[in-house]
Amino acid sequence: MASTKYIFVTGGVASSLGKGIISASLAKLLQARGFSVTIQKLDPYINVDPGTLNPYEHGECFVTNDGAETDLDLGHYERYLNVPTSQANNVTTGRIYQSVINKERRGDYLGETVQVIPHITDEIKYRIKLLGNEEKYDFILTEIGGTVGDIESLPYIEAVRQMRWEIGSDCLVIHLTLVPYLAAAGELKTKPTQHSVKTMLEQGVQPDIIICRADRHLNEGMRNKIALFCNVDPTAVIESIDAESIYDVPLLMQEEKLDLEVLEKMKMPVSPEPDLKTWKEFLFRLKNPKGEVTIGLIGKYVELKDAYKSINESFVHAGASNNFKVKVRAIHSESITTETVADSMKELDGILVAPGFGSRGIEGKIEAIRFARENKIPFLGICLGMQCAVVEFGRNVLNYTDAHSTEMNPKTAFPVIDIMEEQKNIQNMGGTMRLGAYPCTIKKGTRTYDVYGVTDITERHRHRYEFNNKYLKTYQEAGMMTPGINMKDNLVEIIELRDHPWFIGVQFHPEYKSTVANPHPLFVNFVKACILFKSKSA
Ligand code: GLN
Repeated sequence: MASTKYIFVTGGVASSLGKGIISASLAKLLQARGFSVTIQKLDPYINVDPGTLNPYEHGECFVTNDGAETDLDLGHYERYLNVPTSQANNVTTGRIYQSVINKERRGDYLGETVQVIPHITDEIKYRIKLLGNEEKYDFILTEIGGTVGDIESLPYIEAVRQMRWEIGSDCLVIHLTLVPYLAAAGELKTKPTQHSVKTMLEQGVQPDIIICRADRHLNEGMRNKIALFCNVDPTAVIESIDAESIYDVPLLMQEEKLDLEVLEKMKMPVSPEPDLKTWKEFLFRLKNPKGEVTIGLIGKYVELKDAYKSINESFVHAGASNNFKVKVRAIHSESITTETVADSMKELDGILVAPGFGSRGIEGKIEAIRFARENKIPFLGICLGMQCAVVEFGRNVLNYTDAHSTEMNPKTAFPVIDIMEEQKNIQNMGGTMRLGAYPCTIKKGTRTYDVYGVTDITERHRHRYEFNNKYLKTYQEAGMMTPGINMKDNLVEIIELRDHPWFIGVQFHPEYKSTVANPHPLFVNFVKACILFKSKSA
């Protein structure tokens, strides 16, 4: 195989145009043609990683196997490609500066003045090439966060300019812009695209391909106009129309021949057709459901579209796998009380209590869990959701009146969820959590074993607190079983109720591992239980 090819995806005119989805879609098409591909995201903000970012600011924090807390776009990359990503796939300005400053302090620059060019841009290029050094990828797609013209993006665009100068035709630049429809004029407007490309040109980069996000079709004349004003071939003007589902986008990009344009420009061999059989089967099942179930998603960020991204997408995969549509009804945990719970949970076929940090809305979560337990409604608790299930069981079954997690009440008489001894001394923000993939052993003869069908699994974690083993025996005797254990550290990873048709809580995050090709068994099985529940209660 020839040298690794680098494709950069930049964005112009507006944010939220879907660079992540476009990158993942192109990567999917290349992968379906037999190439090995990975995608990387460069984020221009100064946080070292998104781990400390409030979901209100940045949506969900996605966690990789190696324990990196990353941008949610990495979730899309994994869901589309079914290939795990790692810390190397997400780099922020904060991380870049941190390593340059560390080098400066160590004296690595031998007295040189440390500057944006070349030191910061060298570090950016080093991070881009890091994935290429592994020599396992034909293509590395690098998505540059932010919008061209932002002050923060400048060093990244400069690094792209340098890379293009250094490696020439092994480098390609795709620019995604918005082509808005002006109702008063009754037409789509190309001027913002022209300006956006001009801004890139001022920074020394000529895009090779322009993808135009629009809410209606671009005609021939408009494509030619964009080509002429932006110095690209008319075939390199690609339309990206608003899609019904994000999973349609690879096929829409294939229709627009984006993959062919890329391969021709990079002088790569062109196979007759990408193999998208599994992808198309998934889409067919997604669009032709045999029925519908409604699942309540109980959390404290439910008004935010992106805060539970991976959970919502896992339901899309699991629904398609069951040939059912999953309607996720977001319910704010702060709105749930003993008085309102029955009304809030009305007509739900299943209840999922979401992960989270801090005590806001916690009592509502516990109420929802009590309702699911008592009414035998299928329940899945993820991370904090599992911890709340342990608290609920303690309070209402074992009569531990003020049982709690010490995260919420450090003074509780029943610390059923507590911090591990070994973690108590670690103080630094971002340094105290159990992060990334850990093994878990599953006991045969449990519902969880029926779900997974194997005894050894690995799942990804992101939390500080754990089930307090002091209470293990009492819980088991009362009917809360612990079918999944981390043997090395003797930690409870999974709980399930003996006397309930489907009640499982997991200390890890299964949603990070669900992909189109491999829907997560916990979600698939949970949805199946919800379908059964609905059919029985009809
Ligand atoms: N706040 C809990 C902990 O730190 C749960 C975290 C989560 O749900 N991701 O253990």
